[in-house]
Amino acid sequence: MKKYGILLLLLSLFLGISGCASDRREELKEKLLQGEALIAMEKFEEAETFFEALLVDNPDNITIMEKRDFSRELKLSREKLQEASDLLEDEQYAEAFAVLKEISKNDEGGLESKENLLQDIQGAYLTKAESLAGENRYAEALAELEEYLTFAGEDEKIMAALEDIKERKIAYETPPPEPPPVPKIIVIDPGHQLKGNYAKEPVGPGSAILKTKVSSGTQGRVTRVPEYVLNLQISVKLRDRLQAEGYTVILTRESHDVNLSNKERAEMANGAKADLFLRIHANGNDDPSVSGIMTIYPSLENPFVAALSPESLRLSTLLHDEMVKVTGTKSGGIRAMDDLTGINWAQMPVSLVELGYMSNPEEDVLLSTPQYQDQLVEGLVRGIQRFFENLP
Ligand SMILES: [Zn+2]
Repeated sequence: MKKYGILLLLLSLFLGISGCASDRREELKEKLLQGEALIAMEKFEEAETFFEALLVDNPDNITIMEKRDFSRELKLSREKLQEASDLLEDEQYAEAFAVLKEISKNDEGGLESKENLLQDIQGAYLTKAESLAGENRYAEALAELEEYLTFAGEDEKIMAALEDIKERKIAYETPPPEPPPVPKIIVIDPGHQLKGNYAKEPVGPGSAILKTKVSSGTQGRVTRVPEYVLNLQISVKLRDRLQAEGYTVILTRESHDVNLSNKERAEMANGAKADLFLRIHANGNDDPSVSGIMTIYPSLENPFVAALSPESLRLSTLLHDEMVKVTGTKSGGIRAMDDLTGINWAQMPVSLVELGYMSNPEEDVLLSTPQYQDQLVEGLVRGIQRFFENLP
């Protein structure tokens, strides 16, 4: 009986101790739940203090230590988040970016906020750059984006914006293409026509002196070719060559049976706003030995177009020189004449070209050969080219 008594005592003791230990475990479990509730509510600082206090009674409890460390880690993480947010507010973007790197990987909510702040920083740079680019301040816009890259590293969105603004910068700085040069306008007057018109017209604007409107011209001594035919042949060839060079060319006539006075021919050039007016003629002289290429311009004493004299002389000289050079024909001179209606009514540099003497047997034949005509035309084209090249 005594034996049983002892056994009973031992059993009751055991149950008593174990009952006591079980109570303490329950109590700790309860505490842990309280601490976890603080963490769940993101009261990390309170949680840290709570677990710290819990450790005093349970100094070697690994679970409590882990919970305390976790609370501390997230407390510090949230402090960094606040710091980054403040820096961002002060537009200290690089600093904010650096601080955000310290957000804990275990801080789920913090990581989400970090992502938002990172986007705010990127957005701030994109907005600044776009605003500058909008004011055509491209270099500054690019500098902003490059600054971002220096602290944030490669970034797809920023790189794309960088490329876009670079392209806009180039487009802005590239001068618009030069408009093509406006072609020079040349009016060519093939002298004379099938039938002369012997009515009169003023020799120049406001003049009382009257002259025949237009004659039928001279005629080849040997070939019997009328001057108006030769003049048109050369004029058409000259027009085609000049058009090939890019000039705008207008002929006062393209057939022989017309009725155009010399004044009207000059007025056609005026109406066309020609840059130069070229009168194509051939010469005649009672002395058949007289020959050579001549050009005619208005003198500085001309009562109507003295202002055109210098440029007309320059034009006449160039045409004369180039024709003489290409053909090898002798010079007939560069002459000033002030009684020519077709010159006196002109409003632009003007030259009357006497291609040669149809009264001279050799020159008459030569003037009707295609090769010689081509040479004369070549000389005229070169003279005209030089005339325009020298213009400012
Ligand atoms: Zn003539």
